[in-house]
Amino acid sequence: TVLTTGWNFDNSYAALPDIFYSRIDPNPVRLPKLTVLNEPLAGELGLNPEALRSEENVAVFAGNRVPEGTFPLAQAYAGHQFGHFTMLGDGRALLVGEQIAPSGGRWDIQLKGSGRTPYSRGGDGRAALGPMLREYIISEAMHALGIPTTRCLAVVTTGEPVYRETELPGAVMTRTAASHIRVGTFQYAANFGSGEELRALADYTIKRHYPEALEAENPYLALLQAVIGRQASLIARWQLIGFIHGVMNTDNMAVSGETIDYGPCAFMDVYDPATVFSSIDTGGRYAYGNQPYIGLWNLTRFAESLLPLLHENEDEAVKLAEGALAEYTDLFQSRWLAGMRAKLGMFGEEAQDETLIKDLLGLMHEHRADYTNAFLGLTFDRPDDSALFGAPEFARWQERWRERLGRQPESEAASHELMQRSNPALIPRNHRVEEALEAAVERGDYSVMERFLGALSDPFAHAPEQAEYAAPPAPAACPYRTFC
Ligand code: AMP
Ligand code: MG
Ligand code: MG
Repeated sequence: TVLTTGWNFDNSYAALPDIFYSRIDPNPVRLPKLTVLNEPLAGELGLNPEALRSEENVAVFAGNRVPEGTFPLAQAYAGHQFGHFTMLGDGRALLVGEQIAPSGGRWDIQLKGSGRTPYSRGGDGRAALGPMLREYIISEAMHALGIPTTRCLAVVTTGEPVYRETELPGAVMTRTAASHIRVGTFQYAANFGSGEELRALADYTIKRHYPEALEAENPYLALLQAVIGRQASLIARWQLIGFIHGVMNTDNMAVSGETIDYGPCAFMDVYDPATVFSSIDTGGRYAYGNQPYIGLWNLTRFAESLLPLLHENEDEAVKLAEGALAEYTDLFQSRWLAGMRAKLGMFGEEAQDETLIKDLLGLMHEHRADYTNAFLGLTFDRPDDSALFGAPEFARWQERWRERLGRQPESEAASHELMQRSNPALIPRNHRVEEALEAAVERGDYSVMERFLGALSDPFAHAPEQAEYAAPPAPAACPYRTFC
């Protein structure tokens, strides 16, 4: 019997005005070879994993064959990179189309590393294997942690080298997303398009992601409010889990509210709001503790782009935008506070909760506690040997926390259960990610990565085999650094 892959493409994005994309074909690669395939994701998309592994389909993942009925394109966008506005676009990616799953869900299928496009500028349009596998691991971990994210369906090697500081094996990754519409897509429309083109993009985005906004008196204001709400919630989740995006440029902020662009991201070990991993973020603009503020900065750029649609009178439009943006801080704060209460097993709300939480974070900072493991220590009443658990001020803090728990009607067991499902047993720690990548890239051994992905797939299970991944890295001579 002939297995069918289940590809079921639509290209609604291509119906936008043509300033939004360039029709292109992928550039074939020499020797495509499948390295990893995300079978659970394939299932969600209505795709058959066995058929996806066929030579015919691996050619699709590599960009050597374009499936019938598709209209591959590179998306145009602009954005603020480290605060500076510039024209961008898919310089090394292309949108094959949108997969319509049997459930009715619509996912962008994007090839990353598929060759040069009209937006490549000086770049080679290609990607190296290591960073593509890294995105695979971290985005799967994020998904399992319950954080909205783009995901990787497959990574293929190309049989061709890419040249960075050294020669590296080339790869093409297949990425899925609710869409790849970015704040930067709106900035592009507002700066380089007509009013009608901006409206077309907004209407398309509403239809695709926020259809409920159509019911509102002012759908464009409702769109702005909805995006603000999703981003406030997303960034609160990053903070709660200790995720540092690393390059929160406006082109890397998805209007759908998914985490996108895993280039320089990394998880924080020791709790410190000033933590930065990205080698290019020398000013710490995208430090852990700055992420909530950068979220608002980016959303302000989004609101500016929408101004012509919000009201025909500019002053009125500005008032509406300011009103919507003013909600962000409260939305973020309430999501973050709710998440922190859960991490500490606290039900209900008390006026002193925020102080209690901030005092804990202050102690964690002072004693250089491992962020993830400090919460695990509290969850399982497992005072590890860190300086935090030995500190007298921490013992006093624990007293206050136990009193707070004692005042709630819920049982200790319920509180413990809440903590277990709010504090992960493991995160994709940098040294373990590196170890998995080294085995795969240097030795062609994918078993280290597969085992790690298995442990990451259910971070709240607290299973014995996850414990080995909980250990923080040994003190290193130089701090961990990431590169775009
Ligand atoms: P990023 O920093 O990953 O958000 O990328 C910023 C811009 O650089 C985007 O327009 C990318 O498409 C483009 N870009 C990144 N790497 C390459 C490359 N190797 N070739 C061409 N364009 C690239
Ligand atoms: Mg990007
Ligand atoms: Mg990137």
